[in-house]
Amino acid sequence: MNIKNYINGQFENPSSNSWIDNYNPSNGEVYGQIPNSSKEDVEQAYKAAKSAFPSWSQTTLEERSRILIKISELLEANLDRFAEAESKDNGKPVSLAKMVDIPRAASNFRFFGNAITQFASESHESVGQNAVNYTLRQPIGVVGCISPWNLPLYLFTWKIAPAIAAGNCVVAKPSEVTPMTAYLLGEICNEAGLPKGVLNIVHGLGTTTGQAIVEHPNIKAISFTGGTATGAHIAKVAAPMFKKLSLELGGKNPNIIFADCDYDDMLNTTVRSSFANQGQICLCGSRIFVEKTIYEKFKVDFVEKVKNLKVGHPSEKDTNIGALVSKLHLEKVKSYIEIAKEEGATILCGGEEVTVDGFENGYYLQPTVIEVKTDDCRVNQEEIFGPVVTIMPFKTEDNVLEMANKVKYGLSATLWTNNLKRTMRMSNQLQAGIVWVNTWMMRDLRTPFGGVKESGVGREGGFEALRFFTEAKNVCIKY
Ligand code: NDP
Repeated sequence: MNIKNYINGQFENPSSNSWIDNYNPSNGEVYGQIPNSSKEDVEQAYKAAKSAFPSWSQTTLEERSRILIKISELLEANLDRFAEAESKDNGKPVSLAKMVDIPRAASNFRFFGNAITQFASESHESVGQNAVNYTLRQPIGVVGCISPWNLPLYLFTWKIAPAIAAGNCVVAKPSEVTPMTAYLLGEICNEAGLPKGVLNIVHGLGTTTGQAIVEHPNIKAISFTGGTATGAHIAKVAAPMFKKLSLELGGKNPNIIFADCDYDDMLNTTVRSSFANQGQICLCGSRIFVEKTIYEKFKVDFVEKVKNLKVGHPSEKDTNIGALVSKLHLEKVKSYIEIAKEEGATILCGGEEVTVDGFENGYYLQPTVIEVKTDDCRVNQEEIFGPVVTIMPFKTEDNVLEMANKVKYGLSATLWTNNLKRTMRMSNQLQAGIVWVNTWMMRDLRTPFGGVKESGVGREGGFEALRFFTEAKNVCIKY
């Protein structure tokens, strides 16, 4: 199936008529093509967004809210179709896309449709000076949204929904590897009555299409989620134009387990936080630190559970682990298993490719647990972004805190303990944008989302996202 760009409410071929193959990771076959869009296509999308802006930015909040909520309802009504498309593009189990990805994408539109009607700004009376100050929150204009392949629609809409709710018009690019649900979203936006040009979706390569969005002098803000190296490159390109930037980047998140935790809950959640979505979630707890007194028991129990996970075709109901997103990514993840062996680590389970009957050319890998000797080895420091976790014991709170913070990333951290004082101490000191205690990936869309250090700059979520997609203007009136 060939997909097209969505520009000014129309589905368009790329101006160069150049196309890129789209692979199904579950069987390694090409199943369609996507536009290899050029600078000209980005310019066309920009022009559509620019002409839609005066009217959209003046559309009442109630009307914007109504349209966003309608998009959300239509996504829910098309759940099966979207979940199957997401799985075919990405390799994730259909059941996961149905339960998490698509419902969360729908929630993004519903949440920001409601949030915009509650987005208040401050005012200050300058006492004794006969003056009052108030703050206007004005949309920026045309903004760029660039998203990755791991949670395709979920992260794409996490940017688009607040951007348009705040009155901006958007030029967006999903990952070239997972374009399908973004393409289907165009149809839904038309059906929901989103005015033409408010959202424009241009497909293509990061280095050409994505780069053209970042380089565009009149696209004034870029919201980007992806790898740290790409984020650094985008920051360099955007800096001379003084663009507003939100960067959500890589992670190497610690999962810290104390002996006083609720063991069964911790064990089941740790399997999920290690391997959900084939471990391709920026929030996965890929470094597991376990208090020494329960380390040997944990090791046995965890490995047993991991060995029972079923690697299989994404459409089979009992599949826990589907296919990795691409051949290239599979090779990258496998290379880290070799690095672990060279570093003298022990592969406790997994480590091999899996051949799934009938889908021999798919990109399947066993869930892999690596016992590392030191925390500073490469597999414990670098983002692998696959079904691979490291485990090692720790003795004291200070010892584990130091190891947890000793990476260049700082996205999330998970802590398992029932000790309140320790919870408070560690939550304060962990270098991360998000700390989960006795849970993982529980999300409330009102909360700020983002990382510190090389995991990013800025926060998404709730009013933080609406603040990013608006400029604050102080008006001072003397009376
Ligand atoms: P990439 O950085 O490779 O790509 C992300 C997006 O940027 C894609 O749409 C890509 O296009 C595009 N892109 C690539 N080069 C450029 C460029 N020069 N200019 C503009 N756009 C460009 O990341 P991945 O897609 O590989 O995603 C995985 C990464 O994303 C991991 O590091 C993960 O941790 C991170 N991530 C972070 C999250 C967070 O919230 N902090 C959440 C989810 C993932 P194309 O695909 O066509 O190359």
